[in-house]
Amino acid sequence: MHIPDIIIAIDGYSSTGKSSFAKIIANEFSFLYLDSGALYRGVTLFAIENGFISEDCSIDTERLEKALDNLDLHFGEDGTYIGTRCIEQEIRSLTVADKVSPIATVPSVRAFVDKKLREAGKKKRVVMDGRDIGTTVFPDAELKIFMTADPLTRAERRAAEMLAKGEKVDIETVLKNLQERDYIDSHRETSPLTKAVDAIILDNSKMTMQEQLEWLKDLISMRFGN
Ligand code: C5P
Repeated sequence: MHIPDIIIAIDGYSSTGKSSFAKIIANEFSFLYLDSGALYRGVTLFAIENGFISEDCSIDTERLEKALDNLDLHFGEDGTYIGTRCIEQEIRSLTVADKVSPIATVPSVRAFVDKKLREAGKKKRVVMDGRDIGTTVFPDAELKIFMTADPLTRAERRAAEMLAKGEKVDIETVLKNLQERDYIDSHRETSPLTKAVDAIILDNSKMTMQEQLEWLKDLISMRFGN
């Protein structure tokens, strides 16, 4: 199936399978996949390691903001990097997940990440997932999807994913983390998580990945006449 040179913006709640879906889309249509959450997670790891965020999540925004000037955070061969160090594994931990939403409320952090995302998305044929891609990062994206699923299903999926990677977690903890993140993400002042008016809702609580892909292909056919 032919798909024009467009930007596909996928936003939605935590652990709705946005990145898995985006990767399948990228593979199917030879698009570049960009995981915006990975950059927020990268900034969070950096903030933890440098003492810019405390145990109780209070943030030294002034020092963090200054330090961002010298932070070489980027996408590379095996995922996300700080300089030459691959941080892909560490940014997926619960330690980072616990602090990422507070860090993502900081306006200078959002400006830092937005700049990198817009740069990376310049060439079109990009599928990007996050919380504010269709509203803030690429408000002109030609195709916007807003993903949701029932919270328990999401927690179960995420826990299974983490277990597969060797991190032992219980469903309760994961559920609590994703509900907290949803709350903070939806209520922050700068670029809160919200459905863009022109985004199409995809509730995948009871859908397989294959069904989601079929759904998308139908949508593309209707939209772009294929
Ligand atoms: O997508 P992922 O779950 O990895 O994102 C981690 C966190 O990064 C989110 O909970 C949210 O706080 C933040 N984020 C954001 N805006 C985006 C992508 C992620 O605020 N576009």
